[in-house]
Amino acid sequence: MKTQLPMTKTEIESLGWKELDVILVTGDAYVDHPSFGVALIARVLEDIGLKVGIISQPDWKTPHDITRLGRPKLFFGVTAGNVDSMVANYTASRRKRKTDAYTPGGLFGKRPDRATIVYSNLIKRYFKDVPIIIGGIEASLRRLAHYDWWSNSVRRSILLDSKADLLVYGMAEKTIVQVANILINGGTIEDCFKLRGVVYWTREPPNDALILPSLEKVKADKLEYAKAFKTFYLENDPIRGKKLAQLHGTQWVIQNPPQFPLNQKELDHIYDLNYTREVHPECLKKGRVKAIETVKFSITSHRGCYGGCAFCAITIHQGNLVVWRSKKSIIKEAKRIANLKDFKGVISDVGGPTANMYGYECIKKMKQGTCKERMCIFPDVCPSLKVDHSKYIELLDELKKLPEVKKVFVASGIRHDLVLADKDYKDLFITKISKDHVSGQLKLAPEHSDSKVLKLMRKPSIKKFIEFQKKFQEINKKLRKKQYIIVYLIAAHPGSGKKEALKLREFVKNELKYRPQQVQIFTPTPSTISTTMYYTGLDPFTNEKVFVEKSEKNRRWQKEILFHLK
Ligand code: SF4
Repeated sequence: MKTQLPMTKTEIESLGWKELDVILVTGDAYVDHPSFGVALIARVLEDIGLKVGIISQPDWKTPHDITRLGRPKLFFGVTAGNVDSMVANYTASRRKRKTDAYTPGGLFGKRPDRATIVYSNLIKRYFKDVPIIIGGIEASLRRLAHYDWWSNSVRRSILLDSKADLLVYGMAEKTIVQVANILINGGTIEDCFKLRGVVYWTREPPNDALILPSLEKVKADKLEYAKAFKTFYLENDPIRGKKLAQLHGTQWVIQNPPQFPLNQKELDHIYDLNYTREVHPECLKKGRVKAIETVKFSITSHRGCYGGCAFCAITIHQGNLVVWRSKKSIIKEAKRIANLKDFKGVISDVGGPTANMYGYECIKKMKQGTCKERMCIFPDVCPSLKVDHSKYIELLDELKKLPEVKKVFVASGIRHDLVLADKDYKDLFITKISKDHVSGQLKLAPEHSDSKVLKLMRKPSIKKFIEFQKKFQEINKKLRKKQYIIVYLIAAHPGSGKKEALKLREFVKNELKYRPQQVQIFTPTPSTISTTMYYTGLDPFTNEKVFVEKSEKNRRWQKEILFHLK
């Protein structure tokens, strides 16, 4: 029978274990589902025979929670959870949130601000000699000097503030297994400094590292910050990326090249592990965890994104190279989902960061890495990327045929420019999606309508959106379906001033002709291109000046005018 990994001493004893090899500490409730980073890491470590325990949302003001499972033999792994703790704790207007979808009962206040730093320092106080390894989105995107919007300052690498021994960045399953194997075989944390996908600090930079402008320089000079970011972004490539070194005072923070992405067999294996897809009973007794409800019956079909949207950190975290699972492995997962007692026949999503990137990649990129001189789908789709929706269509068809499955939805975002670029399958894809995989509404993210802002966002021209919308309406008319496109928009992105905001309002009023439901005020989250623009007022790739709206009142206004269309 499948069980979650232990969270209490009693569970550890009932498993007949005397001690744990690894303890993972997370800022989220413990949900044993592959959409949760801590569950993936826990299961891959269990898969190599390790005894893993979980401490979820420990009280950081007392030693009680952090010490309750004892001392692990190998290491503590620390993550803030599925989102950066500052994003989890504050709104786009820097106000404290009222609820937390990743906490039992939705209670706010169960994770500290800068959770990775807080948990790691807490562990250091009580287990001085146990290695601490930090990872997850918060650590990954704050791995070198970075602008932090919440304190309006450039902060040093989170590795130094956390006092951890090692930082693993990106999707870290392969790296954490390599680290564990080194430690099992009697190696030290220093022996892990040779691995890909890690950040560590030294007194001298390695000879083969590219030297970035120092913390002190990027703090003092915005042009230096933009320069450092550009190198960091362009070198974030597993095939051709170089080792980076950045001086922080007297310490050199070293980022090794990214880990190689998992191949299909490895990816299939990770998703085939023993997830119960349930909230751990210890968490559940405190209340429902909302975050599981939307993803419980969803399937991850691929990883990575070559969209390169400027405001999104997925390219930095998951990488630009898309890797997809085999149809067989996905069908197997669907059958396991169908056996869950509360499954009602609906698979809520089959996708990844962008749904319609499943099943095709650029051959050149797979061999030589990403191009430095152009982007894969901006300003238009690169001729080397042979867009082909056939495998994704086939996959959705097969899932639909399963006897226990009544409906398969696609809830992950769709890139409409990719659909339009697929000459052979464009009409078939829109027809299939409209007929079987959306329920009245298709969500698309043009994000803005002004060409200058879209260029800064690295998003396709609004003409593409209008072309897609027309096609979608035509096909739905033929199908006799009343379905709509729901748009996602961003207000106050760098480049968007009063004129551009009014232009967006005109687009909403005259082209969309309805009040948009999904409008966000741009939040400068760590390590994105847009955040670099927000902080420096420069496009880091051209060094051209960019207008940035910083007044909270004006930022809010850019959003509000989209709801008052008369
Ligand atoms: S050739 Fe085109 S699709 Fe391939 S990596 Fe370069 S920009 Fe991307």
